[in-house]
Amino acid sequence: AVEVRDLHKWYGEFHALRGVELAVATGERIVICGPSGSGKSTLIRCINQLERHHAGVVRVDGLEATAEPRRLEAIRRAAGMVFQSFNLFPHLTVLENCTLAPVRTGVATRAEAEAHAMALLGRVRVADQAHKRPGQLSGGQQQRVAIARALCMRPKIMLFDEPTSALDPEMVKEVLDTMIELAGEGMTMLAVTHEMGFARQVADRVVFMDQGQIVESAPPGDFFAHPRHERTRAFLGQLL
Ligand code: ATP
Ligand code: MG
Repeated sequence: AVEVRDLHKWYGEFHALRGVELAVATGERIVICGPSGSGKSTLIRCINQLERHHAGVVRVDGLEATAEPRRLEAIRRAAGMVFQSFNLFPHLTVLENCTLAPVRTGVATRAEAEAHAMALLGRVRVADQAHKRPGQLSGGQQQRVAIARALCMRPKIMLFDEPTSALDPEMVKEVLDTMIELAGEGMTMLAVTHEMGFARQVADRVVFMDQGQIVESAPPGDFFAHPRHERTRAFLGQLL
């Protein structure tokens, strides 16, 4: 579903991604972890082309990322994105947040988009909030709306960038449970998170990034029990 080959990204002089190689197969769940500034968000943002890469190849659902606007639109449609800070439109209702993109891009009529959105809001258990504005919801509810909104575009893969790190502790579980359900339904997922319980339960592989590179990638059992690299061990030691 996603293929990243020898990916490089610079911010000015700063070399933020240094030859990243990553493949996410259809149905696979991958968790990315690593220290602050290691390039995790940059990698996710290059995959759905919120950031343009400078060298290497990004392919999403078989489509190679180019600067062509239609191609960018197709890639963003295939890759649903959930951010740390929810990024809902504050002036729209929950339901309008969910129907905006499908209606605008013409993938659904308004009636179809509303029916689909209500079904998805039900799945993430916020259907009763559909006519409120995001500001009237708890953080956990807003993040579940953000997940439903991404699903409204019928993505092939879901990208998560620290979806629980802005939440109050008591709301983390409800969002993780939603992600676990999504994984159970077979969704392909690439998630930056430091929720290692989630990684153990859901991930097929855990990827450790440091200084713009993937240092280690292994199934969670191996990753946690026998990290091979000193930098991985140091990172895991800090988490515990
Ligand atoms: P965190 O865990 O703090 O979210 P991260 O692993 O997601 O960190 P990135 O946000 O990908 O890290 O940033 C990687 C590096 O690139 C950092 O050193 C950061 O300062 C730098 N960087 C990120 N975005 C920009 C930008 N727009 N302009 C300049 N430098 C940037
Ligand atoms: Mg980040």
